[in-house]
Amino acid sequence: MSSTLNVFPEFIAQFLDLHPPSIPSETPLSEIWAQFRVKMTEPPASSSPRDSLHSGYVCVVQGDRYLGLITAQEAIAVLAQGNDPRSIPVSHLITPGQAIITRDLLNHPPALYEVAQQHPFLLLLDEQQHCLGVLPSLALLKLSELAEAPLELGPLNPFEIALNHLPITVFRKDRQLRYTWIYKSFPGLDPQDILEHTNHDLFCAQDAMAWEAIEQRVLEQQQGSRQEIALTLNDRFHYYDLTVEPLLDEVGAVLGLVGTALDITRSYLNQQALTTLNEELETIVDERTIELQRSNAELLVSLSAARELNDLKSRFITLTSHEFRTPLTTILGSAELLKHYGQTWTSDKRQRYLDRIHDTVNHMTRLLNDVLTVGQAEAGQLTFSPTLINILDLFESAIEQVLTRTYRSRTIQLSHDLHARDLYLDQTLVSQIISNLLSNALKYSAADSAIEVYLKTEENQVIFQVQDHGIGIPEADQANLFTSFHRGKNAANIQGTGLGLSIVKNAVNLHGGQVTVESQEGSGSTFTVLLPLTPSPAYDDDSRD
Ligand code: ADP
Repeated sequence: MSSTLNVFPEFIAQFLDLHPPSIPSETPLSEIWAQFRVKMTEPPASSSPRDSLHSGYVCVVQGDRYLGLITAQEAIAVLAQGNDPRSIPVSHLITPGQAIITRDLLNHPPALYEVAQQHPFLLLLDEQQHCLGVLPSLALLKLSELAEAPLELGPLNPFEIALNHLPITVFRKDRQLRYTWIYKSFPGLDPQDILEHTNHDLFCAQDAMAWEAIEQRVLEQQQGSRQEIALTLNDRFHYYDLTVEPLLDEVGAVLGLVGTALDITRSYLNQQALTTLNEELETIVDERTIELQRSNAELLVSLSAARELNDLKSRFITLTSHEFRTPLTTILGSAELLKHYGQTWTSDKRQRYLDRIHDTVNHMTRLLNDVLTVGQAEAGQLTFSPTLINILDLFESAIEQVLTRTYRSRTIQLSHDLHARDLYLDQTLVSQIISNLLSNALKYSAADSAIEVYLKTEENQVIFQVQDHGIGIPEADQANLFTSFHRGKNAANIQGTGLGLSIVKNAVNLHGGQVTVESQEGSGSTFTVLLPLTPSPAYDDDSRD
């Protein structure tokens, strides 16, 4: 018999039941039931796989022709429906052709495997429907060679050809996650060492656990999964694109799983290198952006400084052309008159004209000094050089200086509450503060109104206050009063440049002090200056009053 089979001869011979139990087709089910029961409850007589496996079926014959076979389960199913086993002939239980295979099928392992999955026993018949034997499907399925068969279709197997150059491992596992079949093993692992083993036997605990968790989930949820995993093989990291699919039988029961592990180590590492490079590039770009923003901001500052300077220059030009022309005309006119008529004039008249020229030149000098001071202040060239100065003397001589010919009739009342007179301050800057505040007070008040100056020292500061009862300052102008060239709206008809208070502010700032104004339009103004006092390095106690 085995000589007629040219496929898997040894395998078939091992499992083929050449003399299966058979029964005529008209026998009632009740008769074979007793036979099944004995077979199922008694332990097998020998340990031969054939004996242990073939016990659950009986073949149905009609004469010398085999019609099919009945399994114990099929018999039980009929009994469970409440049928009377005595009235049902066994021929009714067989579905013709279902579990029957021909010799040809043995030459087609995939098809054979397919049928074996559907029936527990296979009845092998020849063309005349004579029995060649019965094969237990379980034995077939248990053989990994047969399970492998779908991929072993010979040298032209398209899968093998297609996968040849792909670093891919294809595997099948049973429900216990043991490898039952593998195509292209993992680096350094022989396929024979893998079969029948789980990942825990092959890989480090951490890798095996991570992988097992994926596969357990696939088994439980009966749903495929795809993700990247890392494996340490031969002390080297490998990265795999792992796909796992559940392997189900026709009724949906899980048989195990199939999977592919594509080695993506190279592209993974490339990707990582690329990511690192990208991150580095991003950091560099961020740094450059910050630098760029910083230099942009600096550029904007310099640009606005340049604009301001430009603005300042054009205002200087306007100022010089405007403010210098009048005094120059006065000087020129007086000089011309002196030249032509001087000899005929009385000496008093000549002196008046000479004084006018003198005063106008002084005015121009002050104007030029103011321009110079503001220019230096804008360029940050003014320095703070404190020395010990007698503040009362400084105020008295400043008052004397401002009350020249123009303001000869005016009065400035000076009062003070000084604990010390010699104070450590910058004389030039303090002089600028006083003279500007005093000349403004005189300029912006009526000829008959008084000016009060009050001087006071406190523990660590000196306070100057200059009060007038003049035109006052509109509230809208008060905020910008200390900016160069800013002039109050009500001061348009009074000569001025808008530089004095900016000089005051700058001088106060260089001392680290404060200047404030309280004013009401039409009622007068009070300017208050606070300068901090620091002890002079060579401070002499005797200088205190
Ligand atoms: P200028 O007096 O040359 O115009 P300042 O910088 O000294 O320039 O003053 C700026 C502006 O402040 C003046 O134009 C004026 O409108 C206002 N101001 C300053 N001091 C007084 C004051 N004592 N009374 C009224 N207005 C004043």
